Amino acid sequence: MLYESRTEGLCWWCRAAPADSREHKLKKTDLKRQFGPGPYPELSSHKDGGDRFIQGPDSVVVKFKPTLCSDCNNRRSQPHDLAYDRFADYVRGHDRHILSSRAIDLRAVYGRDRWEDGRDDMLRFFAKHAGCRLAENGIEVPEPHL
Ligand SMILES: [Zn+2]
Repeated sequence: MLYESRTEGLCWWCRAAPADSREHKLKKTDLKRQFGPGPYPELSSHKDGGDRFIQGPDSVVVKFKPTLCSDCNNRRSQPHDLAYDRFADYVRGHDRHILSSRAIDLRAVYGRDRWEDGRDDMLRFFAKHAGCRLAENGIEVPEPHL
């Protein structure tokens, strides 16, 4: 069930600090890996009937509205961001093998002894992205059930 946000203006994750930090919709490292440091005259966002060109990897066009506090968006989620980056780097470097095998061995990505932690942190990265998407649209982000 989706509910209208009850924490408007606060970080949706800690629900204590002001939401003053913008998460990237398109990850900065992905943009730089794929298109270089910017500017990106070939990239634009089509929204509300207009085109907005993406000046660089820190453009507001590639970020959500401020929905997190800076601590949650930086320190608290750093392991999750790093786990995603590691996965994305692996995919980029092993695309032929992945396409031919139609599988990704997470032990090769994160190591034999750490693959479950790496997988969970990467999933937390996607959960953070989903939370930002919900919060940007005024939807209450459910609290975790651990
Ligand atoms: Zn926070």
